[in-house]
Amino acid sequence: MTRTESFKQQYPQWNDWHWQIAHRIMDADTLAKWLPLSSQEESDINHVLKLFRMAVTPYYLSLINPDDPHDPVRMQCIPSLQETVPCANDLLDPLNEDGDSPVPHIVHRYPDRVLFLVTMECSEYCRHCTRRREVGEEDRAITDEELDVAVGYIRDHEEIRDVLISGGDPLTLSTARLETIIQKLRAVKHVDIIRIGTRVPVVMPMRIDDELLNMLKKYHPIWINTHFNHPNEITEDAERACQAIADAGIPLGNQTVLLKGINDNSETMKELMLKLVHNRVRPYYLYQCDLSRGISRFRTDVETGVKIVHDLQGFISGFAVPKFVIDAPGGGGKVPICYDYVVSHDEHEYVLENYAGKIYRYPEPHRT
Ligand SMILES: *Cc1c(COP(=O)(O)O)cnc(C)c1O
Ligand code: SF4
Repeated sequence: MTRTESFKQQYPQWNDWHWQIAHRIMDADTLAKWLPLSSQEESDINHVLKLFRMAVTPYYLSLINPDDPHDPVRMQCIPSLQETVPCANDLLDPLNEDGDSPVPHIVHRYPDRVLFLVTMECSEYCRHCTRRREVGEEDRAITDEELDVAVGYIRDHEEIRDVLISGGDPLTLSTARLETIIQKLRAVKHVDIIRIGTRVPVVMPMRIDDELLNMLKKYHPIWINTHFNHPNEITEDAERACQAIADAGIPLGNQTVLLKGINDNSETMKELMLKLVHNRVRPYYLYQCDLSRGISRFRTDVETGVKIVHDLQGFISGFAVPKFVIDAPGGGGKVPICYDYVVSHDEHEYVLENYAGKIYRYPEPHRT
């Protein structure tokens, strides 16, 4: 029996997502009841909690192997003393989201789409969160007045055809509240795609229920992007959640953050990507870790990400390979970083390297 299964037997309300949120583990004392901690670990966690908060759903916590100090789930959700060590490159707002925010809760960086931050609450706070400056500072969601201002901005900008609802985690809102938001967006004629960015399928898969999916189905085209970082996160519960989303006709993508000591090798990443596509989740982006405060322990060098994608490209189905990007500090947006398969080119031909390292030539059309 897995740890998750034994907890499930112990707690009859395990599959109720409200119970999971209400029982999030937020302090070292409570954590010690779920997971053996040394007194040093307990005092380290209390120290970090003065700077950054912690919240872990009982479900996500149950995925941790308590005997492994480097367990990939543990490293993503349990505070480490290293978070308190400032690093010269750390930035408070690494992506300059404030600078690109015309009205509260909206980030308008690209021509045809906006990011819409509807809540600052998550069911679990990732230690590597980019937006940790606001996320988790307080469990605050958008008010009715703020919602009207934000939707007003979208209504006034006809070039916006894609709205990415994110946060925080939008699926921590009640289904009714989320429906209000989506309804208002759907009422804007030029809004075509509505996307939801959520980590709920990973950290609280029981949230993906019929009530939610039946609501979302009324407002197609809806897309969902989730955030799996390690194959251990793809449990039976997570698989059921992903497949239910796909069955509701919602295309499901995944963004992975490249994290040192968690998924920074080709074998782990290959296993993750193949498990995702098995569950009809399309790998979308692989992110180089941002420069948020206190997360430098997760940063790999850029070359590691380039190598991982090179090790996947051509060896597994093309749609199982994510695009490796750096979200440029200062608000430059996502920049794709790719292995260069062009060996050389001139007016006559391109010299190409294929996935296996062999060289091929493609002649250019004759110019007259
Ligand atoms: C990531 C992001 C988007 C969406 O970008 P896509 O490449 O279309 O997925 C939109 N706005 C902001 C500010 C973003 O950071
Ligand atoms: S779920 Fe997303 S927004 Fe929430 S803490 Fe994790 S990375 Fe940050």
